[in-house]
Amino acid sequence: MGADNLAWYERARESLLYVGPKPEIVIERGSGLELFDVEGRRYLDFVGGWAVDGLGHSPAVVAEALTRQAAELVNASPSYFNRVQVEFAEELLDASGFDKVWFGSSGAEANEGAIKLARKWGKKEKKGAFGIISMSNSFHGRTLAAMAATGKEEWRTLYGPALPGFVHVPYNDIGAARAAINDEIVAILVEPVQGEGGAVPASVEYIQGLRALCDEKNILLIFDEVQTGYGRTGSLFAFQRLGVEPDIMTLAKGIGSGFPLSALLTRNRFSVFEKGEHGGTYSGQPLAMAVGLAVLRETIARDISGNARRVGAYIREKLGFFEERGLVADIRGEGLLLAFDSTRREGSEIVADCLKDGLLVNSPRPKAVRFMPPLIVEERHVDEAILILGRHL
Ligand SMILES: *Cc1c(COP(=O)(O)O)cnc(C)c1O
Repeated sequence: MGADNLAWYERARESLLYVGPKPEIVIERGSGLELFDVEGRRYLDFVGGWAVDGLGHSPAVVAEALTRQAAELVNASPSYFNRVQVEFAEELLDASGFDKVWFGSSGAEANEGAIKLARKWGKKEKKGAFGIISMSNSFHGRTLAAMAATGKEEWRTLYGPALPGFVHVPYNDIGAARAAINDEIVAILVEPVQGEGGAVPASVEYIQGLRALCDEKNILLIFDEVQTGYGRTGSLFAFQRLGVEPDIMTLAKGIGSGFPLSALLTRNRFSVFEKGEHGGTYSGQPLAMAVGLAVLRETIARDISGNARRVGAYIREKLGFFEERGLVADIRGEGLLLAFDSTRREGSEIVADCLKDGLLVNSPRPKAVRFMPPLIVEERHVDEAILILGRHL
């Protein structure tokens, strides 16, 4: 990379708390499927702001919503309802079929809320049951409760004792979930497709089995749709494709198409928080609400989910050619949350070579390469990405 990137990169390393290695580029602007670094170098983006920028980089609807709302009201206070919050809540509930929503700013925050809501319900309705079954290999965020829910062994002891009350069972194994249920369990928490786990989908039978199990045992089914929601897996919410309705659902990532926003949705009968038990300074923040409303309307009006299905199938077809030549294996995922394993190279090497060649992809596991492009991606972008990828497999 050139001198400007390196100079900015050094400044970043001086000023920003180290949380992991990053490539020696610094991003300055973006539009649609493209990002540009401080030297004006272009990258075709198949990371999509980490499955976040569904409508692409700097979409006009987001810019307009922010400008309009900023002139009207930036922040009222969490102690008052605000108008755009009500409008967005109603439209999101209409689109999802839930009864009640609480807004946050990040996926981890929404999951914290879901864990608290389930535990509160357990206190009220299940003699204080508070245990939550979650899955090996899952990811639910980086707050301490979300870390305890996450299925990473290394996180159990990373920051001292983990929050108790979580049991991890293998994904796609209904027998293991059933065996883990006892009187202390109040909920099962699951991702319809494990995103950070490497785009591993749950089978329809498994998810339907979990729903039946939760009904049988009178415990809550919680879907973490932070990554799978908002069209990413080919329907507005993944639960719609799977034919089951969770009791609680969390959303983040795509919901703000780049603006920090998350949501916790549930049914009237599980709306059990009482005064002062949950909240947040930025819950229902008007700028976030205006963006959320604009993104939801645009996502539905442009049939973004349909595009995810179509272009997702096109990517699979193209990857299939590499599979036939033995270069990739185990192509998996749903819609535009896709991954494959390299048969010859480390995922991180492929990622680094693609970046030098102007393509951004991600490697969530040692051999895996993941695609999670903006949901407005077109076939021509796929053709360009496949051409670059093909040089580095
Ligand atoms: C990214 C992610 C989270 C965490 O979201 P943040 O906004 O980073 O807190 C939680 N669950 C899933 C499934 C995710 O993919």
